Amino acid sequence: MRTPIVVAGAGPAGALLATYLGRQGHDVTVYESRSDLRTTEIGAGRSINLALATRGTVPLIDVGVIEQVDAITIPMRGRMVHAVDQPNPELQPYGTRAHEVIHSVSRNDLNAILLDAAEATGRVTIEFDRHIASVDLDRSLLHFDDGTSEPFGVVFGADGAGSPVRMAIAATGACRWRTDRLGHGYKELTLPADDNGDHRLDPNALHIWPRGDLMLIALANPAGDFTVTLFAPTETFDSLNSAAAVETFFEAEFADVAALMPDLADQFGANPTGVLGTVRATGWSYEDRAMLLGDAAHAIVPFHGQGMNAAMESARLLDRHLSATPDDIAGAFHRYETERRPSTDAIADMALDNYIEMRAGVVDPDYVARRTLALDLEKRHPEHLSPRYSMVMFSTMPYAEAKDRAAAQGEIIASAIADPSVDVDALVAALPRLPALDPLVDHDALSVS
Ligand SMILES: Cc1cc2nc3c(=O)[nH]c(=O)nc-3n(C[C@H](O)[C@H](O)[C@H](O)COP(=O)(O)OP(=O)(O)OC[C@H]3O[C@@H](n4cnc5c(N)ncnc54)[C@H](O)[C@@H]3O)c2cc1C
Repeated sequence: MRTPIVVAGAGPAGALLATYLGRQGHDVTVYESRSDLRTTEIGAGRSINLALATRGTVPLIDVGVIEQVDAITIPMRGRMVHAVDQPNPELQPYGTRAHEVIHSVSRNDLNAILLDAAEATGRVTIEFDRHIASVDLDRSLLHFDDGTSEPFGVVFGADGAGSPVRMAIAATGACRWRTDRLGHGYKELTLPADDNGDHRLDPNALHIWPRGDLMLIALANPAGDFTVTLFAPTETFDSLNSAAAVETFFEAEFADVAALMPDLADQFGANPTGVLGTVRATGWSYEDRAMLLGDAAHAIVPFHGQGMNAAMESARLLDRHLSATPDDIAGAFHRYETERRPSTDAIADMALDNYIEMRAGVVDPDYVARRTLALDLEKRHPEHLSPRYSMVMFSTMPYAEAKDRAAAQGEIIASAIADPSVDVDALVAALPRLPALDPLVDHDALSVS
């Protein structure tokens, strides 16, 4: 590989790739625009968490940090659905097997473990507060916003959805990309612990308040609080422009949550509103000098809880390609994208589908009937059928395969519901067998209770 080897961005994808490269014996410099999150105080209400699933845990096992991660996660067994017309929330389990749980984890704490892992290789130097302004691929130079420049032999762009590395590859004509805005945004809030420091809701579930074209979700943090996120159309956010408007809106849509958050309107006013979109890019690399991974190549909407999981899976797959052909880096880049892009396209589509499922489907009787039959068929035919959610969250089969299998399964399930005389067992038994699990899928890797 050309030297110096540089990684742009020290988020989950960049920190993990640097760890892999360091373990291969490469010297790596990582440039990160933010301050070191391990030593920087984050403000109150910024304990943002996300859902970790199998595609994320496998690389964490691979690089030997799973025990540290286990200590900071909270298992979630299913969706706790707070429907508008039901006094008691209902738990919809994610799967039928004990290990089929996802894990709530602080984005910053997980990132900190990965930064430590990268540095522990003894080969990775991370420079914080270095914001890359532009990338000159012809002269192999990174230009920073403080006017300084640094050389690179190869640059890995793990610099997120607004990636300057992607802009540089696109400027050569090698990459074509677009961002599809969703037209919906999000706002993260904190639901505090009770007076004893305990969770005010069941911590072992992902709470959802589905409301048709908008929804609220909540994931527990170890300190007893929850990170609550409102997803809604942009116009809804535009209309919530005063404390009174926020209070009236929450009173009408999520009165039970509003009652637990005395400073709701203050938080709403103080916290930023995020935009959501899908980055669709083709041509992730430039010769043997530049390569994109994670959100820089395939940012998706967050409704399948897979963006970070996919970013970490991408780092592992890219490492495999680089290790397989160390003397042909341009070829490795090309083969990696050929293998990976159909899958990142597939998860982008499935994540969009899941928004509709989460904000409306989970309370739709037809959806509940299909999901119940899918889980039932999985028990009877565990080698031939697995619900889409399980294939995405609890396996490492390529996302593209999961999407195709889910479409075939969905047709069988729809036909069985429409016509009870259909021999659904025969149809399911005729589906191709599910692939073997990745040897690193260790279901005891993270605590599940
Ligand atoms: C509301 C929300 C909820 C989510 N929930 C989940 C979830 O439950 N599960 C899940 O798997 N994913 C989730 N995601 C997605 C997840 O956050 C991202 O997919 C993941 O962070 C991508 O990792 P990355 O390393 O590719 O990019 P990033 O995390 O964006 O990291 C990029 C890094 O590059 C740095 N950088 C950017 N520009 C520059 C520059 N010019 N110079 C130097 N450094 C730069 C940034 O500071 C950052 O540290 C969610 C996203 C959102 C918005």
